[in-house]
Amino acid sequence: MGETLLAISQLNKKFDTTGGSVQALYNVDLHVKEGEFITIIGPSGCGKSTLLRIVAGLDRGYTGSVTLNGNEIKGPGIDKGFIFQEHRLFPWLTVEKNIASDLPLGKPEVRRKVNELIELVKLQGFEQAYPRELSGGMAQRVAIARALLRSPQILLLDEPFGALDAFTRAHMQSVLLDIWRTNKTTMIFVTHDIDEAVFLGERVVILEPRPGQIRKIVPIDLPYPRKKASNSFQEVRLKVLSEFEKLEEFELKDGAGV
Ligand code: ADP
Ligand code: MG
Repeated sequence: MGETLLAISQLNKKFDTTGGSVQALYNVDLHVKEGEFITIIGPSGCGKSTLLRIVAGLDRGYTGSVTLNGNEIKGPGIDKGFIFQEHRLFPWLTVEKNIASDLPLGKPEVRRKVNELIELVKLQGFEQAYPRELSGGMAQRVAIARALLRSPQILLLDEPFGALDAFTRAHMQSVLLDIWRTNKTTMIFVTHDIDEAVFLGERVVILEPRPGQIRKIVPIDLPYPRKKASNSFQEVRLKVLSEFEKLEEFELKDGAGV
């Protein structure tokens, strides 16, 4: 794994509202290598979604620099895929049409790519199903396939499994790791679940709020596939958790609450 794909330097983002101004991100520095799997974790309101939206090109009102392959991010585009907590599929389209989005399925290369993606997210047999006929996990797999259609350089996932039950969530984590192994797509995955962050990420970026900033970046030197019940996993998990306990003490002293 080599080159820096995403370079975030001295990123600052402020929201000015009638109630005053919020420093959503403060001096954020993060370099992500091509093919890397980064997880971002932190309490609600610490700027996770704001950071992801800026990388996606959905929000441009910031200072500092955010580059993909050395080019400043100017707006959304096919080089960046985005997955939200809700699947946002079109209810009136079948699975395969949702994946193809605006590309014509009649074209052989589109058809080939869609079939490939259906296999990748393990939805064979559901090509003609409608979103209402799918479980939450299946619908989210369709959303992932759709985001991969144009082979983005980076996949940005904002708490994508947050609404799923624990079993489905664990299954989806494995499916995502399979996709990553097969496609080598660079991943930035936001979660507020410590287990999920440690299970998936090669590095876990811990954010803290007010102002939203990086508290620590923890490399996870455990080989894949990881075993959540193993001692080594629990050790790393506790290390990450201890950062939050420190954070809570700070919050209590601060009188702000979480
Ligand atoms: P997270 O995803 O970690 O929960 P967000 O990135 O959504 O956090 O929000 C970070 C901070 O920025 C919060 O204090 C939030 O209230 C504020 N914020 C986010 N979006 C807006 C917006 N569009 N207008 C005003 N404030 C916002
Ligand atoms: Mg959020």
